[in-house]
Amino acid sequence: MVSYKSLGLVNTKDMFAKAVAGGYAVPAFNFNNMEQLQAIIQAASETKSPVILQVSKGARKYANATLLRYMAEGAVEYAKELGWENPQIVLHLDHGDAFETCKSCVDSGFSSVMIDGSHLPYEENIALTKQVVEYAHQYDVTVEAELGVLAGVEDEVSAAESHYTKPEEVIDFATRTGCDSLAISIGTSHGAYKFTPEQCTRDPKTGKLVPPPLAFDVLHEIEKKLPGFPIVLHGSSSVPQDEVDTINKFGGKLPDAVGIPEEQLREASKSAVCKINIDSDSRLAMTAAIRKHFAENPGHFDPRQYLTPARDNMKKMYIHKIVEVLGSNGKAE
Ligand SMILES: [Zn+2]
Repeated sequence: MVSYKSLGLVNTKDMFAKAVAGGYAVPAFNFNNMEQLQAIIQAASETKSPVILQVSKGARKYANATLLRYMAEGAVEYAKELGWENPQIVLHLDHGDAFETCKSCVDSGFSSVMIDGSHLPYEENIALTKQVVEYAHQYDVTVEAELGVLAGVEDEVSAAESHYTKPEEVIDFATRTGCDSLAISIGTSHGAYKFTPEQCTRDPKTGKLVPPPLAFDVLHEIEKKLPGFPIVLHGSSSVPQDEVDTINKFGGKLPDAVGIPEEQLREASKSAVCKINIDSDSRLAMTAAIRKHFAENPGHFDPRQYLTPARDNMKKMYIHKIVEVLGSNGKAE
């Protein structure tokens, strides 16, 4: 049993209470590799933003759970070295699929876990979430649960269509499970293809797809039912068109990739939404920089040559999200 506290990590409790009160959201960035983690920590340290490092099932399979846990421990020390005296870093399990997965993360030093029972019947989701909460809370580890189903594909989590969270269920669910935060479905979606062209309209000037707006009415209903309760948005990448264009220009093929417009995420950040998950935008930033680098430097074969611009591009994107979209800069001095 390793406590996250001995690793210098924090849980989400105070972080979310401050975010809800302060009208901003904390970024939750997924990581699978060293360059991504360096970029996240550099961005958070420079902006003094609280940050959540997320580990998905796919990431654990790709990089190994033990290694990722030690990388997060290293990240705390790295942040201090960068001059962030009091780093506010959470190590969070993204989309925990079973009690055992959550338990093994709690036992190995995670400070927060998500149990995703959203695909289960309502009562089974409650029972599973409650079981995880009872275990995690013994060690002061916070638990995120999910109600409602998001569309899209993220690692091994996929659903053909979304079902908005039912506001009439949230009080019962939060009370009976004891969860610390709740991921809801209001139209965000996993992956780089969040909407089909048929679900969008086209901007007549640019020909680009304009996605349907998020269901802010559902969000506000939920806020009314659970005042001050931390709400989480998954699948909230914006799929920046300049990155998609760079990828396509240099040999990629991502036609009609579309995400959540940043103005809508900015608006959501001011509400009870206090955690916004961003993964695809980092993948796009990395891929765009690498494709461009290879096209312009066909003789390069040292990974450091193409991973340096990839890391820089991810860092720029993370800082942009923190400062221009979520408003979490300066909240963890
Ligand atoms: Zn997710």
